[in-house]
Parts: sequence; structure tokens; C-alpha cells
Amino acid sequence: MIKLNENFDKLKKNYLFAEIAKRTEEYKAQNPNADVIKLGIGDVTLPLCSSVLDAMHEAVNEMGETATFRGYGPYEGYEFLRTAISESYLRYGIDIQPDEIYVSDGAKSDTANILEIFQTGGNVLIPNPTYPVYVDSSIIAGRNICYIDANESNNFLPLPDYSVKPSIIYLCSPNNPTGAVYNKKQLKEWVDYALENQSIILFDAAYEAFIEDPDLPHSIFEIEGSKECAIEICSFSKGAGFTGVRCGYVAIPNELKVDGKSVGEMWLRRQSIKFNGTSYITQKGAAAALSKEGMEQARKNINYYKENAKMLSETLKGLNIWHIGGKNSPYIWLKCPNNMDSWEFFDILLTKSNIVGTPGSGFGTNGEGFFRLSSFGKKEDVEKATQRIKKLQF
Ligand code: PLP
Repeated sequence: MIKLNENFDKLKKNYLFAEIAKRTEEYKAQNPNADVIKLGIGDVTLPLCSSVLDAMHEAVNEMGETATFRGYGPYEGYEFLRTAISESYLRYGIDIQPDEIYVSDGAKSDTANILEIFQTGGNVLIPNPTYPVYVDSSIIAGRNICYIDANESNNFLPLPDYSVKPSIIYLCSPNNPTGAVYNKKQLKEWVDYALENQSIILFDAAYEAFIEDPDLPHSIFEIEGSKECAIEICSFSKGAGFTGVRCGYVAIPNELKVDGKSVGEMWLRRQSIKFNGTSYITQKGAAAALSKEGMEQARKNINYYKENAKMLSETLKGLNIWHIGGKNSPYIWLKCPNNMDSWEFFDILLTKSNIVGTPGSGFGTNGEGFFRLSSFGKKEDVEKATQRIKKLQF
């Protein structure tokens, strides 16, 4: 008799974004003239840069000619994009070869799907709070989750707990939702811990393009020993504005072996069974985003968001509101004033300032009492929002 995967019943009902939308709509219905500013979304708002557009237009034209038309591409991505990604690692002094890159349709699916190639059993270690996909995909896969506390006392950058023996460790830096970024010494601790426990680190670098501090690592592969214990998952979504285009990649060093078997080969096997590749047009756009002009143009967009983040951070500083993130990340993670809980602060911000943010409690229990502001909005809106926040009396 057919039964549904009962692990779905174990998923926590996460009403975060539905509840945000509901409360916002209710408020707008009661206050139709309110100019509500949304600083809650994690989606980019600026258009694709011209290098990317030109490359994609050209690729569309190629698809219209018999001589240059392309059908299914390689499961692991076209060589031109894998080479461009490999070369982009050289900026950070990292040697990742094209045959260690696996192109995909984005980091969300990769962070979830990669679990499939590892045997079930064993613990998945996930920081709390976290990007919810790590938790939900581990639950659906029937894996045991151990949480590690990210909190104010460790600046939301937890370090290994040697009493826990995980098989898989999810790390995200710069972090969503907290904006916290690990330094090299901290990541070295994670790498040493993973090597000691024969665990694999799944390192989500989706926001690496926002790092400006030259001492902070953009990639786990900047850390000695990481090639024997880490997989990096990255995306064109946030750095190049590809959230609607869809392109990401997984970097698996050839040295990475489990029981003598190549992890990269295993991932390619999985991809070739379940994935038919990212479109040629998209991959041409992604390669253009990594060209010199593409990077310069993307940098302008990133700097635009970073200016927004700076304005928000300075406003919070002026009000003595504890917060992290914002500098090397598009997110600002603040402590709700007067010990308010996350939803209380949401309501105050919505009703008193007409600003919508994201309650930290939606990202895990340790997010309670905290709040995420995103810098992916319009500069004029952020300027207005900072003026309104300054007027708030806590
Ligand atoms: N990883 C993190 C930490 C994210 O915050 C997001 C999206 O918000 C993703 C991955 C998903 O990225 P993509 O658009 O490449 O699927």
C-alpha cells in the first residue's frame, strides 16, 4: 500500500513569510495610505548587468541557428563556465580545477540534494539560527539533526562542540540570517574538527561576494586541510543578481574521498541521474558575470546594497541597538530593543514606522528576540526607513 514520506509530517510548520505577508496586508487594509517599506526580503532588486545581458542575448541567437543550436548540455556544466569559475577562485589564491566544479540551477537545490550521496545515519550538525533549507531537507531525508548554538555570546559564530560527532556539518558564511562571517582561524577550527571526526563540511558561500574585509575568507578552500573534508556550494544569485535566472555550482576537490571513493564522482553520478543541466543561455550569462567587465558591473550593484546596509547599521549604532552583519553581508541582525520578542518588534516596526522586516525567531529558537533587516531594497526606501527608525521611541 502506498504511503507518503512520513518525514514530511516532522517538518515544523514554518509560517514565517506567510505570517509576515498576512500581518502586512492586514495593516495595509486598515491603513490604506500607509507607505509600507519592505526590508524583509532576501531577494535582489537591481537588474542584471549589461555584460550578462549581452552574453545571454548572443546565446539566444545561437539557439536560433542550426549551426550553433544546442540541446542537452553536460550534466556537470559547460567547460567554458567551469573554467571561468575555476579561474575566479584564483582571486583568492585557491586552486580549484574545472573538473572539480559541478554547475547547477542554484544553491538551494544543491544544499538539499547533496545529502543524498551520503549514507543516512549519523548526525547532521546545523547552527541555530539557520537558513531553513538545511533543516528541512535533513528532516525529509530522515536524518538526525544536532543543533549548535549561535548566540550573542559567540557573536552568532559558533565553534565546534567536540562532544558531538557529526557526519555532516552545514556552515554558511557570510551567514543568512545573521550576516556574521567566520574568520580564517575560526574556519580552521571547523576544518580540524571535521578532519578529526571524518565529517564533511557543506560550506554555503552564497553571499561571498559581499565580503569586503581583505582578511576574511571567501571560500572554505582558503583553509589548510579543507580539501580533505569540505564541499563548497555557491551561487550567482546574490552576487550577480541571478535569483530569477538560476545558476549555482558545487566545488568538490578531487582529493575528497569517503571510504576511498571520490565524492565528486558520486555527485556527478547523482546529477546525471536526476538533473539534465543548466540552460546554455544561463551558463553563458554566468560566465559573463565572471568576466572582468561583468565583475566590475556586478560590484556596482553589490556596492549599492552595501551602502543601504551601511545606512541601516549606522542608524542602529546611533540608537545603541546591538547588531551584527551589514558590513560583509547584505543582512543586518539586530537585537530587539527592550527585550521584545521578534514578533512584538515586527508589529512595532510595522505599525509605528511602516517598515517590514523578518522576525529572527523564524530561523530557529536562538533567533527569538532578534530581527533581520535586508539591504536588497531601493536606496530611497532605506533612507526613508532610517529616518523613521530614528524617530522610534523604545
Ligand atoms: N544559501 C543561502 C544561505 C541563501 O540565503 C539562499 C537564498 O536566499 C540560497 C542558498 C539559495 O540560493 P539560490 O538562489 O542559488 O538557490
